[in-house]
Amino acid sequence: MAEEMTTRAKATPSRFDLGYAPAPEATDHVKIRERYDLLIGGKWVEPRSERHFKTVNPATEETLAEVAEAGEEDVDLAVRAARSAYTRVWSKTSGAERAKYLFRVARILQERARELAVLETIDGGKPIKESRDVDVPLAAAHFFYHAGWADKLEYAFPGRTPRPLGVAAQVIPWNFPLLMAAWKLAPALAAGNTVVLKPAETTPLTALLLGQVLEQAELPPGVVNIVTGAGQTGAAAVSHADVDKVAFTGSTEVGKSIQRTLAGSGKRLTLELGGKAANVVFDDAPIDQAVEGIVNGIYFNQGHVCCAGSRLLLQESIAEALVDKLKRRMATLRVGDPLDKNTDVGAINSRQQLEKIQELVAAGEAEGAALYQPPCELPSRGFWFRPTVFTGVAQSHRIAQEEIFGPVLSVLTFRTPDEAVAKANNTPYGLSAGVWTEKGSRILELARRLRAGVVWANTFNRFDPASPFGGYQESGFGREGGRHGLAAYLDLGR
Ligand code: NDP
Repeated sequence: MAEEMTTRAKATPSRFDLGYAPAPEATDHVKIRERYDLLIGGKWVEPRSERHFKTVNPATEETLAEVAEAGEEDVDLAVRAARSAYTRVWSKTSGAERAKYLFRVARILQERARELAVLETIDGGKPIKESRDVDVPLAAAHFFYHAGWADKLEYAFPGRTPRPLGVAAQVIPWNFPLLMAAWKLAPALAAGNTVVLKPAETTPLTALLLGQVLEQAELPPGVVNIVTGAGQTGAAAVSHADVDKVAFTGSTEVGKSIQRTLAGSGKRLTLELGGKAANVVFDDAPIDQAVEGIVNGIYFNQGHVCCAGSRLLLQESIAEALVDKLKRRMATLRVGDPLDKNTDVGAINSRQQLEKIQELVAAGEAEGAALYQPPCELPSRGFWFRPTVFTGVAQSHRIAQEEIFGPVLSVLTFRTPDEAVAKANNTPYGLSAGVWTEKGSRILELARRLRAGVVWANTFNRFDPASPFGGYQESGFGREGGRHGLAAYLDLGR
């Protein structure tokens, strides 16, 4: 009896053990093919290039599938298919009919939400709770929202005569693969354009599954063409002579090169590029709420977020207390298996991105900033980086200037609102910013003075399809979402 009790005591966790039991999401409903082809003219076709590349699960380094690498000839076929679909079908399809397709796509995305969320997490490394609660619902919301506009374009732009532009080449990154596809496709289709979409090399699978969703919705062939591949495929798409509009989300460096390529071509261009957002916390802010906002601002999606709140500006009088709270909160973040429903911080998207983060963090230490990382065990395989905060950061440090695109926060301090604004604006970027204070007048004043396309007040990383999103300076130009985003796909006449 005594022996049995001892065994039972060992098997039962101590009542002070508040650890989480594993809660893995099921994956059996996701069918990953061995090979994926290109979607051109409504058919899945093998690439004329005869090349394929591997896509891996960044949490395990396992190869998931082989994916077609579209060469110039393939891109040309895709643009021809898009042009033909535009001329023969889509430009003659009424707004009300286009809306029906978009509503159908939105509903299928909802129906297949679990499948999409799991695939997004497997291919990209983000926590399942984020794919499930953010990426997929927002992707569906973008199709619903733009479906609503498709037959009301003349009301969206009163007194104008909105017309589609023609064929759009769209290049998207790996941090929100399905959501970025939705941000790009939904307004383009609602406005009456056809599309050639180039997903990122490391995360092509949900865009390809979206291609299957479009087929299921019976979207006419050629209205959306999907060409997978690396940077060269993207370059071929954006520089193709028969493309009327280019929409790019990615790095500032590539954005600049695209702008140079397109200069003088007459093609319409929108660029959503990098960021180095300031998250400004005043001494009258609700501190616990601010800590949650700071964590969400930088550790959401492993910090692979163009609008991440990567520079924390704290008013000096509360800096020490807030950093203490922040460190305690960071120690509760669960890092690991992205498919576990309890995971807060998943895998870094690729080895290349991990190396970039490691390099910048090493630079931060070398330049004299103080690093803190909570103790946490990292899986032995895959690409991982601990949530990190640097204090004692100077404005000249690389970690205060460059986009790290990882779970790394740089903390600076200020004394007055003027100093906060000067430091926040001391960046070549201008995508987003956050302000934490209980004074409404201060929020309005800072929103006016901060040079950022989006300013969040007492919250961070909030997205809505009705709300335009985009940047200034090296963060690019053009807006996505809302009527501004729609206008980017229309010729508004006079
Ligand atoms: P890129 O800008 O290279 O990638 C974005 C997309 O553009 C991908 O689909 C990429 O293809 C494609 N691409 C690459 N080169 C060209 C080209 N010459 N012409 C047309 N398309 C091209 O970003 P990276 O993936 O290299 O990431 C590098 C850094 O960029 C990150 O560390 C981060 O700082 C920043 N970044 C910012 C993003 C944002 O949302 N603002 C998103 C992604 C990255 P492929 O995937 O094959 O390279």
